[in-house]
Amino acid sequence: MNTTAAVLVAINRSLQIEQLKVPPLKTGQVLVEIAYSGICHSQLNEIHGLKGEDKFLPHTLGHEGSGIVIETGPDVTKVKPGDPVVLTWIKGSGCDAPSTQYVRRNGTFVNSGAISTFMTHAVISENRLVTLSKTMPLKEAALLGCAIPTGAGIVKNSARIQPGQSVAIFGLGGIGLSALLMAGHINREVSGRQNINDAIIVAIDVSDDKLSLARQMGATHTINARIQNPLDALMSITAGQGVHYAIEAAGQRTVMEQAFRSVRDKGGLCILAGNLPQGETISIDPFNLIKGKRIAGTWGGETDPDQDIPFYEESFLANRMDFRPFIHSTSTLHRINDAIHKMETGQVGRCLVDMKLAQCNELNY
Ligand SMILES: [Zn+2]
Repeated sequence: MNTTAAVLVAINRSLQIEQLKVPPLKTGQVLVEIAYSGICHSQLNEIHGLKGEDKFLPHTLGHEGSGIVIETGPDVTKVKPGDPVVLTWIKGSGCDAPSTQYVRRNGTFVNSGAISTFMTHAVISENRLVTLSKTMPLKEAALLGCAIPTGAGIVKNSARIQPGQSVAIFGLGGIGLSALLMAGHINREVSGRQNINDAIIVAIDVSDDKLSLARQMGATHTINARIQNPLDALMSITAGQGVHYAIEAAGQRTVMEQAFRSVRDKGGLCILAGNLPQGETISIDPFNLIKGKRIAGTWGGETDPDQDIPFYEESFLANRMDFRPFIHSTSTLHRINDAIHKMETGQVGRCLVDMKLAQCNELNY
């Protein structure tokens, strides 16, 4: 079995599209035909070497996607051939399988971790898969691998926001938008209220396009940080109190510092979800900690994939959480470098790679 993959061969280089041979499956491994893959900022950080020295070059990339199980290795019980699945970097139940090496035509190897999705067929560790219902569209399902569980999980599991509590979301990439969706969902559905006019869900970004998407997706207030000082604006929205929760998903030092200062005294919580380049630090005034402001990180929104992914899937299918507006565009695997470039230049929403288009393109090449 062969696969077509986008391979990172060197830092700061375009991904190289290669034909690779899939090795026989080992214990706990599953061969998946990928339908859609998302592209997220973690891969940009890998491409630019922001995670420090990369000992695994050349390697495959991608950690959210959807697909169909083709074959299962020894001891796999969670999925079977034909099952539609979500591929997620967040560990769930099942075997934690060893990593894989794909083989090039010249006999050299391309490394891969427990999950890779920038490819047409991939060997995935059983614990990075969650079965989908047959009615879930695979396109939207790809977002269940990273963007939705991380962002929505911050609201649902890390912050445990209650109806009526105020939240400010800094940065409207995939994580910020899914945090926003979940905050809106909690205020609408959990409280049973049809209108959320009394809720305070503030979206902050520097792009008017993203802010208008945020309003569609449940934000009650928006702040363009290029025009208004977000701290001043948030204080005015909350009558000088600050917000109960601030979620930083912009991945910028100054925004992290602002997010911390924006939470209220005596219990306000700032959660940092963005990444900074390795070695970059933030600075906070410890007096704010004494006043009761809190700051924390998050590990994938404290997601339990086996519980949370089915919850988001059901919410989508019941029209309670519509993440379709997230998907900005689809790309072919051969054009993945263009899609990555668009993302770096601040495109609105997620770009998905449609692997079926990749295969068609190959025939035309
Ligand atoms: Zn991700």
